[in-house]
Amino acid sequence: MANVGETCVTVTWLQFNAQLLRLTGEARFAEQLEHVVLNQLFGAQRCDGSGWGYYVQMEGKKPYSSTLDGHCCLSSGPRGVALIPTFAVTTDADGVVVNLFDAGTAKLKLRDGTAVGLTIETSYPNNGRISITVNPVEKKAFCLKVRVPEWCAEPKMEVLALAKRNKKRETGGYWTVTREWEKGDRVELLFKLEPRVVVGDHKNQGKVAVLYGPLVLAADEALLGATNRSLKAISAAGTNLAALAVMPEPAPDAVKSWPGAQVFPVNALARKSTGSLKAGASLQVQLVPFADAGANGTAYKVWLPLGPASSSDNVLFDAQESRSRAGNVSGSITDDDLLSFVVTFNDKPRTEDWFAVTLDEPVAVNRVVFAHGQTFHDGGWFDASAGKPRIEVKASADAPWRTLAALGNYPATTAADPAGLKGGERFACELASPIKVWAIRVVGKPACGDNPKQAFASCAELQAFGVQADAGHKSNTQTPRL
Ligand SMILES: [Zn+2]
Repeated sequence: MANVGETCVTVTWLQFNAQLLRLTGEARFAEQLEHVVLNQLFGAQRCDGSGWGYYVQMEGKKPYSSTLDGHCCLSSGPRGVALIPTFAVTTDADGVVVNLFDAGTAKLKLRDGTAVGLTIETSYPNNGRISITVNPVEKKAFCLKVRVPEWCAEPKMEVLALAKRNKKRETGGYWTVTREWEKGDRVELLFKLEPRVVVGDHKNQGKVAVLYGPLVLAADEALLGATNRSLKAISAAGTNLAALAVMPEPAPDAVKSWPGAQVFPVNALARKSTGSLKAGASLQVQLVPFADAGANGTAYKVWLPLGPASSSDNVLFDAQESRSRAGNVSGSITDDDLLSFVVTFNDKPRTEDWFAVTLDEPVAVNRVVFAHGQTFHDGGWFDASAGKPRIEVKASADAPWRTLAALGNYPATTAADPAGLKGGERFACELASPIKVWAIRVVGKPACGDNPKQAFASCAELQAFGVQADAGHKSNTQTPRL
């Protein structure tokens, strides 16, 4: 999916939840604020603060930018950060409310005008120990409410104060301590941070995401080590904590964005055979908080596929893609998503355009599928009047492109008429027996629609299906004559 997670929208979502929290006092809105601040908001900001991302997605590369040219998010991102103190610690009719656990000092005024200072000491979310010192200007009875994180299985709280009467109760996601507070009274909290696994559904079927306390984690190409340089080769070892064995450790210098920064080694599997590493082999991968993922320009991924790729999977999934012209749409033809697409539009005419996918090593396939991207008034399809678009393949890096087949069921389009082609429509090319390919492309004449001064084509997906080419028993594969 392209163009999701715009930072302006993230900040609007913060404003909306802050407003709902103010109106209702319900902890779920504060929970959402913490989730968004620690993950999506800081995930959109470059770790040194010098840039912001426009669309910050669950996988890909962080699109940090430091210039305001058409970049609305560069103004709204900092606005989001500036909002944090307005909801982190607040007051209500009963007293003081702690929603977020950032280290710092707050100067508050109770409804009757009494000044109360609050000092929070913690290295959260490095760990869950939080110390809150309450400093009212004078001895005063009021409530201190502390949000109890929903993800915490065994929250602990201790009130360290000289006086006699503490009334502690839990309501609606908050612990409320009512007492006569004196300068220096302290509350110690322990919200033990633990890993959690979210098993994907719908578009994330067959994938898992790992969280640690309030943090969403991601795999980062910068931390795959020498054996695996590509995220494509990685899958999660299972859907439960026992299989994944998440264990935090201090972050190496290369990704240490703050003194408490951590990485989270998890058990993983080689998804595809790469070099000496066979599909299914065990390995360990260090995950990082989403806020730090891709900080140095590397690719990252929150949803990790499960287990090695199966023979029924699209073998081009996650492979390297390229096209004849860069175009002006930021989609992908290898994400198994028919809604995200790319185009070759550059406002110029062209006699031929292509969309290609290149693998790490040759794979045997017997079915290739091209999915049309989108039909626009000024093009986006292949003009089939002089021949249907064709599938070409390369057997190795040095081999020349050769034609596998034309897409016979592609409609009889012309330069100006898309013949009813719809976005995401798929056209398959079936082979009588598997063929080994290293790269595949679809080639055709781009259409111009109502603007003959230019022409372009589009592509939503290029997929191929067949058998993995790594096992010895497939060595008798026949190459069809074409
Ligand atoms: Zn924006």
